[in-house]
Formats: sequence, structure tokens, C-alpha cells
Amino acid sequence: MPQNLSTASLQALPKAEIHIHLEGCFELDDFVRLATEAGEPLPRPKERLLEFEGLSEFLEFLDWICGLVRTPDQLARAAYAFAQRVSSSGARYADVIVNPTHWSPWRSNLRGFVEGLDAGFREAEQDGLASAGLCISLLRTQTASEAAELVDHLIAERHPRVVALSVDGNEARAGRTGTKFADAFTRAGRAGLRRTVHAGESSGPEGVWDAIDLLGADRIDHGVRAIEDDRLVAALVERGIPLDVCPSSNLTLGLYASLDEHPIDRLRRAGVRVSVNTDDPALLGLRLEDEYQRCVEHFAWDADTVRSVAETSIRASFAPEELQRTLLTDLAAW
Ligand SMILES: [Zn+2]
Repeated sequence: MPQNLSTASLQALPKAEIHIHLEGCFELDDFVRLATEAGEPLPRPKERLLEFEGLSEFLEFLDWICGLVRTPDQLARAAYAFAQRVSSSGARYADVIVNPTHWSPWRSNLRGFVEGLDAGFREAEQDGLASAGLCISLLRTQTASEAAELVDHLIAERHPRVVALSVDGNEARAGRTGTKFADAFTRAGRAGLRRTVHAGESSGPEGVWDAIDLLGADRIDHGVRAIEDDRLVAALVERGIPLDVCPSSNLTLGLYASLDEHPIDRLRRAGVRVSVNTDDPALLGLRLEDEYQRCVEHFAWDADTVRSVAETSIRASFAPEELQRTLLTDLAAW
């Protein structure tokens, strides 16, 4: 095993985190504080708050916690804490997914929602922390007209903090939704927004096909089940479409029993561009440098492999070109 890849060196690795949900970055202390500030009881005892049975229960919990964030200050504080979190793992940029459907106090005030978060991200940048781009996400179970409404809003506002349209949520429950969202994603792409799509986790290869053929995805969030379809793997390689992989999240939510079964390294060796990410780090108890460490140990990744995965995270990110260049220069010196 490589001797020089300590957690400290992986923490120092210049990298971006490109599959991470703001909703999944609240700490246990945040739940208690936000519930207290809102005058609401915890849904279950504090020590059992983070016990979920599957994806559906997990998504319901996100609704509860985000529903407690009711003021612009609370939004800014969440954004600032996010930047602190990713910075402490050595990420210098993050594409952060936020799904307005979880944030009930802001559902009819998307402008205020983005502005509140933007204030926190700006303050973080001024303090030298990682910068972030917002990927505003649809929920798989929303309708085509709700998708159209969201995209209309994003195009009309063109807020510089918003870099992408995203879609997440439970595909196993929503079924095949590529056709339903195709028009919204096409219009978003034409307006200059980037596109990232959750697929190949709670859906199989067909979800990834729909993401690239119907939604014009620049990137796939997860995408790991592409491994079940050789033709799809070849298409991802040929089109250079990156997968934003979250190994431990897949294990926690029961997709694979262990890293032995996890396809990240098989996909990488097949030539697919993969990055390593945490998905919902606070809720799942994860840190980005530890995710790299797990891959290093389990798949015997050497420094060149780690560097190439980090390079993918930077090149696949929706960070401004100048920042990407800086990070790539620093990565070469790592
Ligand atoms: Zn995700």
C-alpha cells in the first residue's frame, strides 16, 4: 500500500466536492438549535434522530430540518457552515445541491432563498473559505409544470450564484421521469445553465440513459449502476460524462453491501471519469478526505490515481475557469 497517502495528505489534496446536498450538511447540534429557535419538538429523541430506514424516510427527515430554517440569517448561517465544512476537508470549491421543495418556508420565495444563501457564501469567500455554486434541484416526483415554473424563474433571475439545474429524489418511487423533465432541462441548457442529474442509484442503467439522452446531463450524480450495462459504460467514456460518486452513501443506503461490491474502481478502470464525494456528509457521518482514504486503502489507489480523481472533481465542477486553473496548478504541485 502507498505509504505517503496519509489522511493529512488527502486533506491537503487540492480538490472540489461536486455531489453534496446542503440539506445533508446540518449537524446534530444544528437540529437542536433550529428546533429550539422555531419552538418545535424533535421528531424523536436526539440520540435516535439520525436513524433512517431507507431513502424515503431519509427524504422526509430533510423536509423537517429544512422547514426549521425560516429567516435569511439562518440561511446565511447554513451556507457559511457549509463552506467551513468543505474547507476543513480541503475542498476549495463545491457545487452544492439545494432542493427548494424541502425548504417549505421558502417555497414561494425562491429569490429570497437564493439571496439568503448567497449572503452566507459571500461572507465565507471573504473569509478565505471555499467558494460554492448552487445547483437548484427538482424533486423526481414533481410535475412537468412545476419543473417549467422553476426553470422560468431561474432564467428570469439569472442569479450569478446559481450554476446549474439538478434533479434528485427517489427514482424508485417516481418511476421513469426523463420525458417529463426533458423540456425544462433543454430550456435550462439553452439559457446557459449547466445540468446535473441523479441517476443510476435508485434507478438502474435506464435512468442514466435518460439523463444523458433526454436531459442533456453534463454530469451524473451517482451513476454507479451504469456498470450493469456495457453499452452505457462505453457511452459515458465516449462522451466524457463524469460520474459524481459517493461510495459510503451507497453503502449506508444499502445499494452495495461493501466496497468490495462497489463499482467505482471498475468504472474508473473502464475509462469513465469518476470523482469522490460525500452526498450528505453530516447526516451520514462522513468526511471527504476519509472517502478518498477508503478508496486508497480498498482499491490500492496510488498518488497518480488520487491526483487524476481529484482532477476530475475540478474539471467536472461548474467552478469558474480561472478558479479551476488555480486548483489544477496547485494539484500538480501536490
Ligand atoms: Zn445526492
